[in-house]
Amino acid sequence: MSPDSPVPAVVSANATATTTATTTAKASLSAGLATPSALASTSAPPWRPLGAKPATDVSHAVEQAIQDVRQKIYMRSVTGMFARWRLLFVGFTQLIFYAVPWLTCNGRQAVLFDLGARKFYIFGMVLWPQDVIYLTLLLLISALGLFLFTAIAGRLFCGYACPQTVYTEIFMWIERRTEGDRVARIRLDEAPWSFRKLRVKVSKHALWLVVAGLTGFTFIGYFAPIRELGQALLSFTFGPWQWFWFLFYSFATWGNAGFLREQVCKYMCPYARFQSVMVDPDTLVVTYDTARGEPRGARSRKVDHYAQGLGDCVDCSICVQVCPTGIDIRQGLQYMCIGCGACVDACNQVMEKIAYPQGLIRYTSERGMLEKLSVQQVRKHLLRPRVLIYSALMLVLVSIFVTALATRTTLRVDVIRDRGMLGRAVADGMIENVYRLQMMNASEHSLVLSIGAEGLPGLSVKFADPSVAVLRLKPEENNRNISITDLPQVEIAAASNRVLAVVLRAPRDAAKPGSHPIHFVTTSSAPDGHVSLTVREASSFIMPQ
Ligand code: SF4
Ligand code: SF4
Repeated sequence: MSPDSPVPAVVSANATATTTATTTAKASLSAGLATPSALASTSAPPWRPLGAKPATDVSHAVEQAIQDVRQKIYMRSVTGMFARWRLLFVGFTQLIFYAVPWLTCNGRQAVLFDLGARKFYIFGMVLWPQDVIYLTLLLLISALGLFLFTAIAGRLFCGYACPQTVYTEIFMWIERRTEGDRVARIRLDEAPWSFRKLRVKVSKHALWLVVAGLTGFTFIGYFAPIRELGQALLSFTFGPWQWFWFLFYSFATWGNAGFLREQVCKYMCPYARFQSVMVDPDTLVVTYDTARGEPRGARSRKVDHYAQGLGDCVDCSICVQVCPTGIDIRQGLQYMCIGCGACVDACNQVMEKIAYPQGLIRYTSERGMLEKLSVQQVRKHLLRPRVLIYSALMLVLVSIFVTALATRTTLRVDVIRDRGMLGRAVADGMIENVYRLQMMNASEHSLVLSIGAEGLPGLSVKFADPSVAVLRLKPEENNRNISITDLPQVEIAAASNRVLAVVLRAPRDAAKPGSHPIHFVTTSSAPDGHVSLTVREASSFIMPQ
């Protein structure tokens, strides 16, 4: 079979089967079974491997999978609206990925996930392990976003923004530039080894490795300062873990985008497996209009193909040749389809050339196809309860996330009582309690903290180790009315925490014996003395018998 020859005859048989299935589903709809729930349960899209036998035939499925893995796909290049969208997403996602680690904010790398120090720096924010709630919210929003977009338009993420798709696009672009388009690549692979073939292959792999290396380097640049990494890479002084992740990520990019390609989508990606529960008959998916296209076949332009009993599909197989996962969309919706729209672009070009209306393959819903709905009607069906619920939940979660971030305090104080010593009598008729204060500065500036306490008359505060105190603020500069006579101050460096032993004293006659509620009042001040934040933390003061 020549590289560009039409698809084998089995296609026709399968297409007939699809037509029959479609007709059956259509009959069900017209027979009054077209309630949304009935439709969802009775005519769910046949998400199954191309040509696969029932699941019980395991050996056949395995054989099919092995055959698929061995068969290299030579994707034909395609132009058109959806190809342009893909290009736009490739550019956009890669611009963000490669540029962000080089941005700076407050003199520090703007986005840095410092796993060693257990701190995430994100555009002036410092997140600690205690801030895991933000990550949880972000993951929930992402998951809901995936549900929402899948309910609306199937595997939109896979086709346009998934890293596997994006890097495969980049690698295939390099492949086309070095080896030529589909036919040239097939001929090159079939040709015996020669100097030219070696040169072309080496050039392609060298360029692939440059992209893979750049990707690996950028990836670890999110976890270690990228400028220092750059110098370390140039001088070959990476640490062992840096080498490991650099090589691992580079190799993974090279292998996945250069060799595995569609196999990742078909056999490794879990999303492909569970998406079938997220789509319904109103989801927009790439669909071949069987009623219009069949029976397919070659025809002369001069004769009326309808008179010959032919449909609009000329059986050119170009839609199969441009498919990155190598499937024939005319056999019905399959779980390997990543919704990239390449076959839509390709078929539209064919239709344009032979002066047929476009849209033989198009983004539409199963209901739209069966009930022959207009584009407006299909769009109207997109706003269904599932989509509205996902959208409302997303809105709520995003609002919570934004509010939580906006009102997030940059100073945290935890008070731990010294359990080894409750209250003890000291000189001058005073009672002393000891505490440990853990203070966390989650801002990008150093803070001077004034430590006070309130809750008992005559309560005073001092550090167990007076040498830790700094004296940048005078007590009267604090605008709080707390019952202390002086406020010890301590400096906490930017994005750091400090644990200090603090001693509270109160006159013996300030309260009866027993436990008394008190509050530590910690005031954060910038080095210029500007009071910015006050944190009250509850504790207790023990007055002994
Ligand atoms: S590109 Fe269009 S006309 Fe050609 S085989 Fe595919 S569906 Fe038929
Ligand atoms: S069938 Fe069409 S939309 Fe689906 S993966 Fe292949 S080219 Fe992309």
